[in-house]
Amino acid sequence: MNPFNYARASDVNEALALYRPGSRFIAGGTNLLDLMKENLVQPERLIDITRLPLHEITLQGNDRVRIGALVSNADLAQNPLIQARYPLLSQAILAGASPQLRNMATTGGNLLQRTRCYYFYDAGVPCNKRQPGSGCPARTGLNRIHAIFGASEQCVATHPSDMCVALAALGASIEVQGQAGSRVIDFADFHRLPEDHPERDNQLADDELIVAVELPAEGFAAHSHYLKVRDRASYAFALVSVAAALRLDGDVIREARLALGGVAHKPWRNQAVEAALIGQPVSHETFTAAAEALVKDAQPLAGNAFKVKLARRAIVRALDEAALGGPRA
Ligand SMILES: Cc1cc2nc3c(=O)[nH]c(=O)nc-3n(C[C@H](O)[C@H](O)[C@H](O)COP(=O)(O)OP(=O)(O)OC[C@H]3O[C@@H](n4cnc5c(N)ncnc54)[C@H](O)[C@@H]3O)c2cc1C
Repeated sequence: MNPFNYARASDVNEALALYRPGSRFIAGGTNLLDLMKENLVQPERLIDITRLPLHEITLQGNDRVRIGALVSNADLAQNPLIQARYPLLSQAILAGASPQLRNMATTGGNLLQRTRCYYFYDAGVPCNKRQPGSGCPARTGLNRIHAIFGASEQCVATHPSDMCVALAALGASIEVQGQAGSRVIDFADFHRLPEDHPERDNQLADDELIVAVELPAEGFAAHSHYLKVRDRASYAFALVSVAAALRLDGDVIREARLALGGVAHKPWRNQAVEAALIGQPVSHETFTAAAEALVKDAQPLAGNAFKVKLARRAIVRALDEAALGGPRA
């Protein structure tokens, strides 16, 4: 590990003032410290933000819910308001990592965790995400866990978060603050596709802090489900995951949200497929047609064609469970 200096901030302005090029903010450290130990990032300064007053979950006057960036994944998943209004979010978080990791991991850090591509984590091989212009061995190498949507010649990595898939389906927004001021970014625009700049995962500038995530009042509590398919029953990242949410009027779909994880460089939504579900009856045929429409644009690699079939089945299953009001078993 390279030498670095360490500074602890007590409020947002102090954290921003401490920032200079080459610095990194550190929250739970569950991803950043691994990257440092593998010599994949070498910050000159770590700015500890864990003491910033961003640990609250609050119901706003406009009925939206504001989640401070430092709320731990464990506290967020177990919060009574989140469980009652946004069970989809709670389920997604609990499907990820382990209890110990969820105690340390924060809301802001979860959004910014890096891909789990094997080649990104191996400093001995090229990787356009780690070293722009060096190449992408995953395209022709081991690519079982990689993207089937939205990849580029430069990068086929996926975003590994579970929480973000639920936040995408719920239509969250992200409040960020930098030295130039604050701005709010729609969740759908926050993470990027790799295109020609796979080194950038999202729209956040290096000197900006995530201060909060906001959820709309509608949480689809009556009809939502998070389904995660992975190699092991726990402590594994998603091969495919689906966040499904429906608003029903009897057996007729009035609103639908579908986000997929483990399949693209960002949580994957197809709003045309969601719109086509509106007005349709709840049925296996309706859900199968939606799943077929969603996977028809998939572009699998040599090692991950199985993800297309898996995604199709997982979408139908997640929609079925959502319509029923939760998992059957
Ligand atoms: C073994 C293992 C298994 C895991 N399994 C899963 C899983 O199944 N599903 C899943 O979703 N996740 C999983 N994770 C990932 C875990 O959820 C993330 O590592 C965690 O959420 C990151 O949060 P953190 O607070 O520890 O971030 P840190 O490691 O502190 O930071 C991560 C990045 O975010 C930046 N950062 C942090 N907070 C802010 C902020 N407020 N503003 C600006 N920048 C910030 C840091 O500079 C850094 O670049 C796993 C991790 C491990 C180690």
